[in-house]
Amino acid sequence: MLKSPHHLLCTCALALLTLSCGEQPNATAANTALSTPPQGSSMADTVAIHPIFHASTVLTQGDRVIFVDPYNGAARYTSYGAPDMVLITHTHPDHLDTATLAGLDLSAATLIAPQAVIDALTDNPFAATYALANGEDFSTDDVTVTAVAAYNPPPKENFHPEGKFNGYVVEMGGKRYYFSGDTEGVDEMRALENIDVAFVCMNLPYTMDIEQAASAVADFAPRVVYPYHYRNQDETKSDVEAFRRMVQEANPDIEVRLENWYPAK
Ligand SMILES: [Zn+2]
Repeated sequence: MLKSPHHLLCTCALALLTLSCGEQPNATAANTALSTPPQGSSMADTVAIHPIFHASTVLTQGDRVIFVDPYNGAARYTSYGAPDMVLITHTHPDHLDTATLAGLDLSAATLIAPQAVIDALTDNPFAATYALANGEDFSTDDVTVTAVAAYNPPPKENFHPEGKFNGYVVEMGGKRYYFSGDTEGVDEMRALENIDVAFVCMNLPYTMDIEQAASAVADFAPRVVYPYHYRNQDETKSDVEAFRRMVQEANPDIEVRLENWYPAK
């Protein structure tokens, strides 16, 4: 999905990025200039994964800070400082949480989101905003984000319609991180390649059950998978231990990491 010539081009100077990266999504009225990347981050810095809540995750690498679907109150994020990049998968309030966004310092943050999210932001607090459709990518000097289709096929197509919302592959520090967003185990997920760490949703009725999630994960075979977004509509939680057993039975080389994605405040 990532095209290496594009990636090489993006080693160009920041000032030329928007001109040189020919495969960047077309600029729209909502798009503004790139924010300056943090100083002090490099490929050599280890990427740290911080589970936050439900589908929200923070990635840090040196001084770089990326928030994914910030949700459930800004207090959960204050220890990470101001983000450089915020990825939002779709418009539902457990992913686009405007109250949480209002409490964050987004003055240096680039938002990456589907157009539907940008359209829903009545008061855009971000320094820069990029709309990504499924399959499009966005690069800074050392991070590439590619939007992956995230949707429910019939009969649940109304929960997350095809083509409207995103999952993401984030390539940084020499590794590829996949965030599923809200989706079922669709062909686009099963076709992913070379994923080092995957974050995969599994709740009902909105996304998929653990059997479908395990089947999809076995197909794309990430090195590591975190079940996330596993609280159901009825407040029960999907059986992530059973998910782990299913994945390990299908492919013992896949490491399933169980974290508490629903910590108390
Ligand atoms: Zn959700």
